[in-house]
Amino acid sequence: MIIFTRKERDRLQQQLLDAMHDKAEAERRADKAEARAARAIEEAEKKVRCSFCGKSQFDVKKMIAGPAAFICNECVAVCVDVCIGEVKP
Ligand SMILES: [Zn+2]
Repeated sequence: MIIFTRKERDRLQQQLLDAMHDKAEAERRADKAEARAARAIEEAEKKVRCSFCGKSQFDVKKMIAGPAAFICNECVAVCVDVCIGEVKP
């Protein structure tokens, strides 16, 4: 059995409260970082979309940027088929 003095008990209780406070603060910071990351992904998805099919850069393998437009690898494949005459435009 461990016997604490009142002073030791108070000190340990304070340490426990400090640890709980630190944990809550860390969780708030993690929540904010998670929200920032989610917003950044959402913004990136809005900004970079294929100008032909509208897919996000995260929904395709490759996205090629032009001066004022983007095209994804899937639309490039369709364009190649059209250009070589396998698919009528
Ligand atoms: Zn596309």
